[in-house]
Amino acid sequence: MSNMTHLECSLCGRHYDADELHTLCPDCQRPLLVRYDFEAVKKTWDRESLQTREPDMWRYREVLPLRDANMAIRLGEGYTPLLHAQRLCKTLEMPHIFIKDEGLNPTGSFKARGLCVAIARALELGVMEIIIPSAGNAAGAMSAYAARAGMKAHVFMPKDVPSSFLQECRALGASVTLVDGNITDCGLEAKEKAEQNNWFSLSTLKEPYRIEGKKTMGYELAEQLNWQLPDVIIYPTGGGTGLIGMWKAFHELEQLSWIDSHRPRMVAVQAEGCAPIPRAFHAGEEYAEPWENARTVAAGLRVPLALGDFLILRILRESNGTALAVSDRALVEAQMRMSSLEGIFACPEGGATLAALEILRKEGWISSEERVVLFNTGTGLKYPDVSEML
Ligand SMILES: *Cc1c(COP(=O)(O)O)cnc(C)c1O
Repeated sequence: MSNMTHLECSLCGRHYDADELHTLCPDCQRPLLVRYDFEAVKKTWDRESLQTREPDMWRYREVLPLRDANMAIRLGEGYTPLLHAQRLCKTLEMPHIFIKDEGLNPTGSFKARGLCVAIARALELGVMEIIIPSAGNAAGAMSAYAARAGMKAHVFMPKDVPSSFLQECRALGASVTLVDGNITDCGLEAKEKAEQNNWFSLSTLKEPYRIEGKKTMGYELAEQLNWQLPDVIIYPTGGGTGLIGMWKAFHELEQLSWIDSHRPRMVAVQAEGCAPIPRAFHAGEEYAEPWENARTVAAGLRVPLALGDFLILRILRESNGTALAVSDRALVEAQMRMSSLEGIFACPEGGATLAALEILRKEGWISSEERVVLFNTGTGLKYPDVSEML
């Protein structure tokens, strides 16, 4: 079913066999990307065929990596609503603001998209025991899909993680280890355990398939906007999987001739307490330096060092986009505005996109008539205490 041809290093371009289990490029220690035969895809697939497909992300299975589509592990992931944010539009005097509400995914965040593909593909390649270091939503998503697949899941979390995330993983049957340290420490400990026990790590961008799941957000956006991409996408960026995935999707969609060459300006928003990407972007750097003492209530944005930093920075520049950081207070206030105006209980990371929009509009970087998509990447339900800071 899949038209996958090979894996390709995102830095050096070397090719690898897609039917073997791979992690990073052994030469560069950078992520591998999945490539497909789009000439073959074009011959057997057209946009119209989507009309009769299930409203989940497997509607794009021709450009997903499973060799056997029946191996998909499904909980109803993807095809989330793209809401026209009418009251927000009125307040900001901008008629074309949309919110992609990813909080409706299984386990309450868009991490479900990446992990369902990564786990299904790992299972297809014979993996039975998996591990992830995570400070939040990725761990819950992994635990859920592992449970459904009957795989054993190991989670390494910082011990200060909100208890909602911890309880979720335990309920879903994962074995949870609380680490006295931050996400980087969890990563180191998970790496050691993975090597000792031969567990497969699903850590962000360390295997090629989470991006493939996340890229379906790009396919959906295009489909939901009738194949006319917006002018600006504002994305709360941690490891950057979604940003890299969507940009990949747009390139693939153009190869399919389903969209033209118009691209949105891509905006990465981070928290002031952990902002390696805005810092590197504005300094003109090709790579980001690790952020010391990363701190923010937006757990998904607490990523001091991203393996795909150079890919994120390239995309921001290639798209004429930008990067900015907002304070925790500003992002939580905006989370409440987004929620109370539009009726979705947004997560703090989603709030950060609204705070960024307001700044960029005020600066004139976005004009009032432009079509803007904000990503609410998860539900607010898992962060019970953040509003106490207001
Ligand atoms: C993981 C996460 C992010 C960051 O996503 P990336 O694609 O890794 O940059 C943003 N918001 C939430 C709620 C998350 O869980």
